[in-house]
Amino acid sequence: MSGTEGKGVVKDSRAQPSLGTDPFEDTLQRLREAFGAGRTRPAEFRAAQLRGLGRFLREHKQRLQEALLQDLRKSAFQADLSELILCQKEVELALRNLHAWMRDQPVAKNLLTPLSSAFVRKEPFGLVLILSPWNYPVNLILMPLVGAIVAGNCVVLKPSEISQATEKVLAEVLPQYLDQSCFAVVLGGPEETGQLLKHKFDYIFFTGSPRVGKIVMAAAAQHLTPVTLELGGKNPCYVDDDCDPQTVANRVALFRYFNAGQTCVAPDYVLCSPAMQERLVPALQAAITRFYGEDPRASPDLGRIISDKHFQRLRGLLGCGRVAVGGQSEESDRYIAPTVLVDVQEAEPVMQEEIFGPILPVVTVSSLDEAVDFINRREKPLALYAFSRRSQVVSQVLARTSSGHFGGNEGFLYQTLWSMPMGGVGHSGMGRYHGKFSFDTFSNPRACLLSPAGLEKLRDLQYPPYSATKQKLVRWALASPGCTLL
Ligand code: NAD
Repeated sequence: MSGTEGKGVVKDSRAQPSLGTDPFEDTLQRLREAFGAGRTRPAEFRAAQLRGLGRFLREHKQRLQEALLQDLRKSAFQADLSELILCQKEVELALRNLHAWMRDQPVAKNLLTPLSSAFVRKEPFGLVLILSPWNYPVNLILMPLVGAIVAGNCVVLKPSEISQATEKVLAEVLPQYLDQSCFAVVLGGPEETGQLLKHKFDYIFFTGSPRVGKIVMAAAAQHLTPVTLELGGKNPCYVDDDCDPQTVANRVALFRYFNAGQTCVAPDYVLCSPAMQERLVPALQAAITRFYGEDPRASPDLGRIISDKHFQRLRGLLGCGRVAVGGQSEESDRYIAPTVLVDVQEAEPVMQEEIFGPILPVVTVSSLDEAVDFINRREKPLALYAFSRRSQVVSQVLARTSSGHFGGNEGFLYQTLWSMPMGGVGHSGMGRYHGKFSFDTFSNPRACLLSPAGLEKLRDLQYPPYSATKQKLVRWALASPGCTLL
């Protein structure tokens, strides 16, 4: 049961569930009607909602920080860095660009359409469902919400039931800052979400595991609802022999152990030669001690595992390979020490599932080719990292593999750039968001051609019967170069 009472309940202070009935129906109906009445379409309305969201983030910053501390032992600084500031910036970006993004885009024409107006109108889909996970429980629900609002949609938000403290703030406070006829926060776990997914939405935006992503996509298919799936997986990290081990260790450790490793784009495992492993392991130990001290459990900068279930799963993974660094765990506060595993076999569980915790296995390979083969034998990852002082090695890994994100001598710092699309490929997901990419995701790019009602004489060419001359002229006009001016 969630921390907030009443799963499957709409917490927007207007709707109450009645026994024996579908708890979502009334709310969804209200939102559909609001969309049908065109309430969310005007730019002023969208701007007002975005400003409301910005106020929510500012006025409840401390409450959100406390919730994140409670859920994930995330420090206030890390909460700001990875959740609150990014959301605030996303709101500001959307407000700055709202009118430009909404504007019809003129497109090239040909000589069959000289007097017509040809443009793409970005229109809202309608009723959008956003389902989010627990690891960045503010960021991963509000970032897509910004996109859905700026694109003019009505939105149902379903936060993760696992990050209970954050779920409570989102359910109790957020609706007060948004127009409740157009936006609702609903609560629930797998069962209630399954019930919710039986309804027809106009767009579903899901962030979570590939397993649940398949459930969401299957439910969406029943209504032919388009989806964005932001999923996870195992993110490889190739380390070339020609690297400074301490530099690599610092960067890998920072991004592997941030949020106690519970980051979808974190490096999941290292691929390197046995010689590099020898040099990298002590460097990782040094980086961990430098970042989190001799006793990482006492560090304010190291998070905790979200739930007992995930703690037990991760503790089980500590038995894979051989512990080279860390390996300690404490059930009472769901602590797992920043850990490095060596002598790991490909068939072991730690290399079969997404780790999603502060454990870093090192798998040895004999060459760059073997590393690339290893990566390409597996599902396409959400993120891929390559470290080398030789730029051609980084370029080769980039050229010979595929992933949603790529970092050369870098971790997931790209998450701080609104100019970068966020999203996976293949098994790690489909669709993109952040900044303008979000606006495009939540908009139907409607192809519009508006022609004069008269001037019928000019159309003669297009009507049968098609003489040889007509055919020639139509072919010529069709092939004419695009022109936006005519
Ligand atoms: P999850 O898939 O278990 O849950 C995500 C959402 O789906 C939650 O709101 C949950 O209530 C709901 N859900 C769970 N089981 C369901 C079911 N059977 N039917 C319908 N809905 C269900 O994911 P999680 O454990 O919350 O998050 C971890 C996963 O999310 C990891 O795989 C991680 O890589 C991935 N992730 C991806 C991104 C990304 O941007 N690509 C970001 C964060 C997390």
